Amino acid sequence: MKIALLSRNRNLYSSKRLIEAAEERGHETQVIDVLRVYMNITSHKPSVHYKGKELENFDAVIPRVGSSVTYYGAAVLRQFEMMGVYPVNESVAITRSRDKLRSMQLLSRRGVGLPITVYASKPDDVKDMIKMVGGAPLVVKILEGTQGIGVVLAETQKAAESVIEGFMGVKANILIQEYIKESSGADIRCFVIGGKVVAAMKRQAPEGEFRSNIHRGGSAEVIKITPEERSTAVRAAKIMGLNVAGVDLLRSNHGPVVMEVNSSPGLQGIETATGKDIAGMIIEFVEKNGQCGKTKTRGKG
Ligand code: ADP
Repeated sequence: MKIALLSRNRNLYSSKRLIEAAEERGHETQVIDVLRVYMNITSHKPSVHYKGKELENFDAVIPRVGSSVTYYGAAVLRQFEMMGVYPVNESVAITRSRDKLRSMQLLSRRGVGLPITVYASKPDDVKDMIKMVGGAPLVVKILEGTQGIGVVLAETQKAAESVIEGFMGVKANILIQEYIKESSGADIRCFVIGGKVVAAMKRQAPEGEFRSNIHRGGSAEVIKITPEERSTAVRAAKIMGLNVAGVDLLRSNHGPVVMEVNSSPGLQGIETATGKDIAGMIIEFVEKNGQCGKTKTRGKG
């Protein structure tokens, strides 16, 4: 097969592993930096050009689009879909999951466990918002944050009020969330491929920290998940429409709650923690599903 890997950097662990796994299985790969792609969207025959050449005859495309390039990355992916190239994750599913508010609304509609979460744009009553999540301690998050930056634990009512007012004062988009104390600084990353959890790891925050992000000094280890956690992760990926997803769960007193569904989950942490060949599993999924022309949306929507 001829596989396009949409990635801004071919030297990243995940990109390298996917290329390696594809080539081991006899496929041809090309890494494409989405920001350098230009597209003809006016003609009847959609095309994608890169470095002076038309990109043709691809069977499948693996999008690894960072959150900072979601808008243009999704447009490039949509163009491939319009050309009948099979996307591992569809552009609509990626944009859906990147919108935290939209994705939580979709998950809640389908009854997936979520931490009690309140969104606001310009609320007149911060105290009432705090009451809605059950009071302090609570977590305040900046919507655009990644790797735990902009995630704050406010331990008292006063701290919560001033953090919320402070973020609003600088016009940050925020959500406030019930603090799942019983998860004790740990979260669970479930790696889903084609409707199955193929690997899971627990990330544990260091002493004195509640955020378990590896970038914040968290450590990862393999974990056995419960059937309920497994089905929650599978359902969350399915509701988002993602074939490949990293579903982050917290263990709460009221069962597993979904924190986030990631459409370009990193491979390094999960492969290192579990010793599994996740890149190989993604390529095998592409082999099974990516016969040319099998794309569902053809760039709709
Ligand atoms: P980011 O997307 O920036 O990583 P997250 O929302 O995943 O931000 O939060 C970072 C970390 O903080 C999580 O991995 C988790 O360990 C912890 N955390 C986030 N929300 C909660 C919560 N409501 N209760 C307890 N811990 C939380």
